[in-house]
Amino acid sequence: ENVYKLVIVGSGAVGKSAITMRFVSDTYKKKYDPTVEDFYKKNVEVGGIAGVAEILDTAGQDEFSALRDSYLKEGRGFIIVYAINSAPSFDACQDLYNVVCKVKQTKTVPIILVGNKMDLEDDRLVSKEDGEKKAEEFGCDFMETSAKTGENVNQVFDILLNKVKID
Ligand code: GDP
Ligand code: MG
Repeated sequence: ENVYKLVIVGSGAVGKSAITMRFVSDTYKKKYDPTVEDFYKKNVEVGGIAGVAEILDTAGQDEFSALRDSYLKEGRGFIIVYAINSAPSFDACQDLYNVVCKVKQTKTVPIILVGNKMDLEDDRLVSKEDGEKKAEEFGCDFMETSAKTGENVNQVFDILLNKVKID
């Protein structure tokens, strides 16, 4: 069985759970318990081959628990999320990227940087260009999404799963 272990990280309230639920069950709620950290599975097809995406939806602030540390080690693809209406959440991506690289002991691990809440254009504080530039620095992919409308959420996972597959 092809199991793709993915981990979604980011500051609190950027929409990690919303993105995960949108991908796994195509649903959106106004509220998710911010303290819940759990695994979610979805059957996927990558390059025409059936597999299972297993996503760890992390919770808590910037610290990584020992338990999470071990899962990070097993994670094969990472989604680093910020919200386009939160500059601090964008700044936090650097530390998260550093932690992922440190745990994985490599800079070639598949990562996608995601600017979520793109539906909140009127409240935007992080430009798309800033996101693109940061992704270029990280040497990773980039996408803006809305878990609320569903825009680009499946694309994020498509891109990452295809990278993980050939990694
Ligand atoms: P997490 O702490 O990163 O898991 O964030 P959540 O998934 O719990 O999302 C925090 C809140 O942001 C939710 O209660 C949603 O109301 C809101 N949210 C999440 N994604 C979006 C989005 O794409 N657009 C908008 N407008 N709100 C969102
Ligand atoms: Mg959450």
